Amino acid sequence: MKAISVLGSTGSIGTQTLEIAQEFPEEFTVVALTAGKNLDLLIEQIKQHEPELVALADEIHLPELKERLEILPPKDKPKNLPQLVAGNEGLQTAAAWSNSDLVVTGIVGCAGLLPTLAAIKAGKDIALANKETLIAAGPVVLPELKRSGSRLLPADSEHSAIFQCLQGTPWAENARLSTGIPTPGLRNIQLTASGGAFRDWGAEDLKNATVKDATSHPNWSMGKKITVDSATLMNKGLEVIEAHYLFGLDYDNIEIVVHPQSIIHSMIELADSSVLAQMGWPDMKLPILYAMSWPERVETPWKRLNLSEVGQLTFNKPNTTKYPCMELAYAAGKAGGTMPAVLNAANEEAVALFLKEKIHFLNIPKVIEAACENHKPDFSSSPKLDDVIDVDIWARKAVRAEVQKNSSQITMASYN
Ligand code: NDP
Repeated sequence: MKAISVLGSTGSIGTQTLEIAQEFPEEFTVVALTAGKNLDLLIEQIKQHEPELVALADEIHLPELKERLEILPPKDKPKNLPQLVAGNEGLQTAAAWSNSDLVVTGIVGCAGLLPTLAAIKAGKDIALANKETLIAAGPVVLPELKRSGSRLLPADSEHSAIFQCLQGTPWAENARLSTGIPTPGLRNIQLTASGGAFRDWGAEDLKNATVKDATSHPNWSMGKKITVDSATLMNKGLEVIEAHYLFGLDYDNIEIVVHPQSIIHSMIELADSSVLAQMGWPDMKLPILYAMSWPERVETPWKRLNLSEVGQLTFNKPNTTKYPCMELAYAAGKAGGTMPAVLNAANEEAVALFLKEKIHFLNIPKVIEAACENHKPDFSSSPKLDDVIDVDIWARKAVRAEVQKNSSQITMASYN
């Protein structure tokens, strides 16, 4: 039985993690939850899972949560109400909760950085969904993993696929640690991309892309931010940087291939030119479960893959003209230092502005590029946590300033 803490329990990753815990009560028990603003769902989760600790991102919601738990009718009230905490410290307490064995990181964005680091410092195994933490702060996270012995178990489907393929190689021991140490004999990674919401749109048609269009993913059901990242293909770019830090490969050996059926979740090529792929239906529960159960496999009654039902698997090259975010991500990753943190923060800010209909879809890459161009990283030493936090704040401001400066050109109504 593994005791798990779920960071971001009210989100897409968080709710799927809790569904897994509920489906396999002999394998998992939930000891800590964290959430943002969705108190209705959080209260249902507390009733269902009876965690020992619950943390809210913002203290302002704490009195309401306390009151609503206290007035629950006796039939709904957990035998022991959880300890309630809030704010950055509260999230970090939940991440490092002494009774948990594994922390699932389902907070969206760089807000997951400090809690994830707290979990790593406490030596917890991490089921890593919150990729932004590793992208922004890879040079900070990797040494901490080494120090604490904490292991990063990828929950992102592509990285889970690579991780699963690596289990069958002679370097499995090394791959298990996922600490960015190059895996000898691993020649190349091919990350598969569904193509996102606009894969069947012509480049010209993107002028008419709305928030509703960008938040409707053809294959995966996910939170809004990552769904927009999939529509711009920035998600794939971010995953390239994530793969670099997890598996220690140079950027030139990490490729993207568009695979609209999302059946192959990614592939690795080994030194002898053999290519291994991991397959399954596009359902996040499988990679989440594997990160939770590793090194074991849990028997599930889930729908089994039937390739004759799928019919055909197709592949093509990504279109970097239609989707410039991928090249921005490769460039930021190759630049290294604090550049990936700037790319990540600029993207978070640009997506937030797009979701509020303050900028057009096509201007997302433009404002990110401007932020990256204006950032002058200091390569004299590896970035520290404070450097990452400073550039994160700077990049968000830079994007807002860029949008304000060019407001007539980059509003929703027009773009250039
Ligand atoms: P969601 O937006 O669905 O959920 C985000 C969660 O984080 C919610 O619980 C939310 O709380 C909480 N949250 C939001 N802001 C903050 C904050 N400032 N501080 C603390 N908690 C906060 O996101 P997803 O589940 O889609 O994604 C989570 C992470 O997993 C992302 O990093 C994403 O890239 C990654 N990922 C997601 C996949 C998916 O299928 N969804 C696939 C692969 C990776 P509340 O809702 O209560 O406000």
